[in-house]
Parts: sequence; structure tokens; C-alpha cells
Amino acid sequence: MNISELARRLHVQLEELRIGLPKLGFDIGSRAVKIDDRTAWKIIQGWSKLGRQFEALRVKPDEEKIEAAGPVVKRLVKLPQVLTVRDFAATLSVPINKLISVLMKNGILASLNERLDYATASIIAEDMGFLPEPETTTQETDKMEAITDALKAELGNESAESLKERPPVIVIMGHVDHGKTTLLDTIRKANVVSQEAGGITQHIGAYQAMHKGRVLTFVDTPGHAAFTTMRSRGARVADLAVLVVAADDGVQPQTIEALHIIRAAGVPFLIAVNKVDKEGADFERIKSKFSELNVIPEEWGGKTPFVPISAKKGLNIDVMLETLLTLAEVEKGKIVANPDREAFGTIIESHLDPGEGAVATVLVQNGTLKRNDYLVFENMLVGRVRAMRDWNSKILDLASPGMPVRVLGFKVVPSVGDIVRGKVNAAGFEKARPDLFRAKISAAPIEAEHRAEELPMLNLVLKTDVEGSLEAIAVSLEKMRFTEAAAKIIGKGVGMVGEADVLQAAAGNATIYAFNADVAESAANLAAEKGVRVKSFRIIYDLLDDVKSELEGMTGVEVMRVALGRVILKQIFRSEKSYIIAGGLVEDGKIIAGARVNILRKGAPLGEGKIEGLQSGRQEAKEIPMGSEFGMKINTRVTLAEGDILEVFTEEKKKKTLTPQ
Ligand code: GDP
Repeated sequence: MNISELARRLHVQLEELRIGLPKLGFDIGSRAVKIDDRTAWKIIQGWSKLGRQFEALRVKPDEEKIEAAGPVVKRLVKLPQVLTVRDFAATLSVPINKLISVLMKNGILASLNERLDYATASIIAEDMGFLPEPETTTQETDKMEAITDALKAELGNESAESLKERPPVIVIMGHVDHGKTTLLDTIRKANVVSQEAGGITQHIGAYQAMHKGRVLTFVDTPGHAAFTTMRSRGARVADLAVLVVAADDGVQPQTIEALHIIRAAGVPFLIAVNKVDKEGADFERIKSKFSELNVIPEEWGGKTPFVPISAKKGLNIDVMLETLLTLAEVEKGKIVANPDREAFGTIIESHLDPGEGAVATVLVQNGTLKRNDYLVFENMLVGRVRAMRDWNSKILDLASPGMPVRVLGFKVVPSVGDIVRGKVNAAGFEKARPDLFRAKISAAPIEAEHRAEELPMLNLVLKTDVEGSLEAIAVSLEKMRFTEAAAKIIGKGVGMVGEADVLQAAAGNATIYAFNADVAESAANLAAEKGVRVKSFRIIYDLLDDVKSELEGMTGVEVMRVALGRVILKQIFRSEKSYIIAGGLVEDGKIIAGARVNILRKGAPLGEGKIEGLQSGRQEAKEIPMGSEFGMKINTRVTLAEGDILEVFTEEKKKKTLTPQ
């Protein structure tokens, strides 16, 4: 029986039960999920008496107490996207042997220098009782902090009377395939704000929905792990978060990662337990799993609302929206802005459109953005609002706080996370020189100078559909540094692969990697003519895998020794200058004809040799198993003696593996 089920039957809270049962003599473990049925029945039947003892011992678990309860408390560890087993052990401060044995239990045979990705490492860390959290690069953190600081300063300057309520901005996060996109679509379809329903819905990175007369803004962040960068920002611009978890799949690495991001941002959130229409969906199990992560459901005395939903069937979506409104109500004092001033907003999506030029979605956070406003980034004039449209393609003249709008009129492609201001007057601002500004987003070599000149280098030109993916991929590639080979971005940008990219790749001996970016026909022809490779991808991991296998292909060959067995020499029959004939016993493993041997005397190496032929009894043999005596001819210049040990091995040529720097 699940402990949560037992808690329900006994009408006590799960955490109280977990803490209380050991005190009553039932040794269940602080993280136990199940309890065997016999014990469970014993407890249920004896509850009239046990319950009284339980009451006497009762500790009221609020979340703080649970955190202090010992075994439930987990140490927070920050893990990078990729790390070696050695670094992993150091980060966790656990002995390497212990870590390796936990890895083995999880089916991972890894050497000290083996690299583990975040997903694997975080599962192992969880298993060992840690609370893993993805490390953010300083660049990301700086930018994230800049956003909140700027906004805080912005609102701090407003007088209390000028601040008006605005729609809350909500992000939806969770593991891939748990239903984020479906949920966003369902909300969008069922709760359109604009009367012009049926207008062409455009994916602009965010949209607004209406519930009970209140407007909610949803940021539509891509759900892929490699987008952590953007999601982190998503969480910073957001007032509330929905963490989606599929009831049939449970808490997964990206669920935990998202939870950390939400917590780090201090954003109130609810857990949407999705796919409850599916067989095997277990709402209670999900709640108990989350409570192990110190996310305690409201009904168990905690602070976090859990809402069972089916995004696909549209089930309980209204309850979820209602709960979001309740959370917004609590945060009311913070969800404010002054609409009567010049606008301030964050770029949540941007790309270069072949027809329209630079296009960006601005989430207005304070003030009102108007058509014809000048657009200012830092102290630079980066364009003027030529046109604004909402997610239904409706043309707008004004965009008020909390609204996401697609803006035309940028002279340059801004980066996701950039803060822009709308100004009525252009005086006093420097004009952005598109050539200078572009330099910021293109041709920025990720590694300034690579140390080893002779290091094989994979040069690449990266083109992506939107700024968010460009950044995410560049960050991941930056981490692909190996001792044997490295990737170097010699050019990058948003938009279609054009002839200029091909020329740049040809000049830099580079391969073009296009992510969700089309290749212009003229560019394809030019690439064929110049012998430039153009590779297209739709999934970030596929792109990264391809770069890795290209790098592996550049590393050359190394000879690996594969140990076969160990032989003790029992008798020397004949000893010549270049060979001997001897009898031996296979102490360990096996030996095969043609294998090589390493000769040891009293543990000290004397030299090497090769087994020319084997005999078992009078028969020639190809292989001798462990425990058997046999005869052999060994080609060697070492003068062998009885009692010498032969370590038998074969040699395999193998592509060198990549070692991270
Ligand atoms: P995302 O990767 O988190 O955006 O997940 P998607 O929204 O793409 O959903 C992944 C899969 O789960 C799709 O095949 C959906 O149809 C399916 N799905 C999403 N929500 C539900 C649900 O409530 N019930 C069921 N049965 N399937 C769902």
C-alpha cells in the first residue's frame, strides 16, 4: 500500500505519518513510498490504540519543520550541463568508489574521466539524497539579475497611486512530452481574450487568455532542456508558474530542473498533474513524490496547490485557471505597473524575417508601448515601432503592461532577455550602427583563441530560426571542449542560410549548422560549388550529437589493451633465443592463440612476448579456459623462468575518445 493511501485512511498527514511511524516502532524509512500490506493492516486495525500514542507524539509538520527533520533535508548541489565522474564526486563530496558503485547500480559503467550529462548526474545525485540544481553561467545570472533589478528600479520610482493592477505573467514549465504545448493550446483555444476569435493565431512567444473577467498572460517557452537559458529568463519575467507533470510518467529530471528554476526565481507556482485521463495515472503518488522534494500539497498542510488536469481533454483547466487567479490575488501588490508612462519591456522572442526584417516580441512590463515610439536599448536607438500585432495578428496602436506584442521596426535583431524602452522622443540617444550591433550577435567566436594551435578544430557557422535557440545552442557548444578536438563558432546569426554564410564558411573552412533555418536555393548551389557542407537539424540534441561525432572523427586512433587472463609458468621445456616452449596454468580469465603477454617476475615487468601456439594435452588449441594446464610457444627475447606470471592481452585499435578539458 502507498503510504499516502495509509495516511488518507488514517486521516493524518503523510509527513506526520512518516515521522510518527518509526516512533511507534514501525521502521519505514523517511523517504518510503510504499509500506507492505501486512504492516499497513496491522497499523489500521490497531489504530484506535496506536492513534492515541501517535497523537501524543505528534509533531505538527509545517514545511520548515519537515526541512529540519533530518533525512528529508537534502543538500542542494549545483551541477553543470556536463561533468566528469571525478568532478561529480568532488561536487557531492563523496568518495569516488561510492559514486562509481551507485553509478553501476544504475547501469552506468563509468571511468573517472567519463562525462555525465546533467540529466544523468541529477538522477544519481537525487538517488544519493541530494537536491540537484542546474548551474547557471555567470552571463545568464548577470542578465537575469539585470532584468529584475531594472524592473525593480523602474517600479520603485513610481508613486503608489500611479500603480495599477496588470495581468499576471505566467510561465508553463515541465519535462518534455508532459503536455506543456497541449496545455498552452487548450487554454488559448478555450479562453480567447479578443472578440476576434478565429483570427490567425500566431506563435509569438506569448499570448493572453481570459478567465472570469480577468486577463492572464502566458509565456510560451520551448520545453527543451537546452532552453534552460531562456526558461530561466521566462521565470524571471513571470509572476506565476505552472509546473506540468504527467501523471503517468511522474517527476522527471526536467521537472526537478524546472522546480529549481522556479524556486530560485521565487515565483509562486502550482503543480498541474496532467494526463489524468490516462490509465495508470496516480495523482496521490505524484503528490507524495513532490513532498519528498519539499513541495507539500495544500491538502497535506503545505503551500503548493496541486491540480489534476487533462490538457488534451480540457479537463479541470478552469480549476487550474481559478487557482492561478488565487495565487495572483495573493501577489496582488506585486502585479502592478503604471500604464501612463513610456514603456519598458523584455524581448521574449526575436528573429529575422526575410520579408519583414527584424521582428521581436516585447513583453511590456511597465508603461504603454505606442506605435511610432522610438525603441531604445541601453543608450542606443535600435528602431521605431512601425507596427504592432498581438497573437491573433490583430493590429494594435497601444500595448499596455502585461501584454506581449510582436513589434516591427527594429533595425537590428535584439537578443532574448534584452530590455527595450519605448520613447516618444529620439533626442539624446545614440543611433545604433547595425554593423556594430550585428557584430554582437554574429561572428562572435565562442573561444577567443584556442590554446593549442595544432588541436583539430571543427569550425562552424551556426544559423537558427530564433535568437533563443541560437543562444541555447551556442552555450551548449561552448561546453564542448575536449583535449583532442574542439568546436569553434566562426559565425552565427538568426535567419535563413544565405550566400554570405556560405562564403564565410568557405573562407573559414567551416561547416554550416542550420537549426530550424531554411537554406536559400542560391546558398545551396553556392555551397555545392564551394564544397561547403550544410547540415540541417530540427532537434537541438541531434545537432549537438552531430558536432560531437564530428569531433570524435577528428581524434585519430589509439591502441587499447584488452586484458584476457593471467597465466603462471609451471615448467620450461625448451628455451631458445627468440622463443620458449613452456607449460602453464590459467589462473584467471582465459588465453587465446595469437594474444600478447606482459611478463612479470615478482611483480616487476621483464618485457613482452606473443603466444604463437597453444596445446591442451596433445591437441592444438585456440583457447584455454581458466583453471586448465596447457603447453605453449611464446615468441620473446626474455629468458623465462618457472613461477613467472604472464598477463595475457589483445590489442584493439580504437578511435580516441574525447576527454573534456
Ligand atoms: P510538451 O513536450 O510538454 O510540450 O508536450 P506536448 O504538449 O507536446 O504533449 C506530449 C504528448 O502528450 C502529445 O502526444 C499529447 O497529445 C499528449 N498529451 C498532452 N496532454 C495530454 C493529456 O492530458 N492526456 C493525454 N492522454 N495525452 C496528453
